[in-house]
Amino acid sequence: MATNRQVVLKSYPVGEPTAANFEIKDAPIPEPADGQILARTIWLSLDPYMRGRMSERKGYADNVKPGQVMVAGTVSQVVKSKNKDFHEGDYVADYAGWQSYSLSNGMGVRKLDPARAPLSTALSVLGMPGMTAWYGLNKIGRPKAGETVVVSAASGAVGSVVGQLARLAGCRAVGIAGGKDKCDYVTGELGFDACVDYKAEGKNLFAAIRAACPKGIDIYFENVGGDILNAVIGQMNDFGRIPLCGMISQYNATELPAGPNWSLLLVKRLLVQGFIVSDHFARMGEFIAEVGPAVQGGKIKYREDVVKGIDKAPEAFMGLLKGKNFGKLLVQVADDPTRK
Ligand code: NDP
Repeated sequence: MATNRQVVLKSYPVGEPTAANFEIKDAPIPEPADGQILARTIWLSLDPYMRGRMSERKGYADNVKPGQVMVAGTVSQVVKSKNKDFHEGDYVADYAGWQSYSLSNGMGVRKLDPARAPLSTALSVLGMPGMTAWYGLNKIGRPKAGETVVVSAASGAVGSVVGQLARLAGCRAVGIAGGKDKCDYVTGELGFDACVDYKAEGKNLFAAIRAACPKGIDIYFENVGGDILNAVIGQMNDFGRIPLCGMISQYNATELPAGPNWSLLLVKRLLVQGFIVSDHFARMGEFIAEVGPAVQGGKIKYREDVVKGIDKAPEAFMGLLKGKNFGKLLVQVADDPTRK
């Protein structure tokens, strides 16, 4: 008999999450009440922000409590509907969490047209990560042709789009990523002008970034923090902009490292602005209208790292926090009927 397989948070991790922090459970498949839909999960997105939710520390959104299903963006197919706006067979993007079936009243649920783009892209290049890149680069970074844009975690879901949008805006795009394979992909496949392998460079990171950015850095799209931020910040040009998107190097830290040199922000008159993409979800339509055609036309490329089976989600998520993923990390929970 089919059940609703769920991954729940068992306990808050201290430092790196381990398998013991998660529990896999089978629950009955729920029945929709009037106004609700029941959807079967096809794709489940694993994202760095989930580490922040596995904590008692106050963040920008509600944390997951032990015993609750882990949060996640999902793409699903409606299997039963008692809501007039949705029909059996509809494909939808939602935040259904790490489970194979979910109920919803339809609030915040977005219908997807598989003829326009593969369903999984609603969680990758044409979903939350792509929108993060678009919003942070364009609305905070405000690139001008001829400028140099540096982005860390460059082969990932957000970074890959940042660099390609920067190129389309006429900028020099320089990535920072871990390992030769990722850097080769960033320059070869994605068309960045250069990519610095921070793992290979080690203590030489500052000089390697300088060599890749001979005219200094106008925009640094920050995904990582720590040593990479410190190596970049001294090379920012006056009036440079730093969209502060993420600090993944610190998500498992039990003690925070020393911060960057703030006097450089003053001397160089830098603009640093943190942002959370969900504050701007009302602009999803604007983002898709602008970036969708570039993805469909092959001007923006993307890579998805697919793990099959919901039971693999905890291990895949632990790997994400160590850079084991190569591209947008997705869990395929069920067959995607639109994929051949
Ligand atoms: P990715 O798909 O890029 O995966 C994370 C990558 O981070 C890894 O592949 C790895 O790449 C890198 N990484 C992991 N651990 C470390 C470490 N200790 N030091 C340096 N790099 C590390 O993830 P996303 O593109 O989805 O997310 C990128 C960033 O954007 C994250 O910081 C995330 O929190 C942030 N974000 C913020 C949003 C917002 O609203 N502000 C929304 C979405 C994402 P490598 O092997 O190259 O090191």
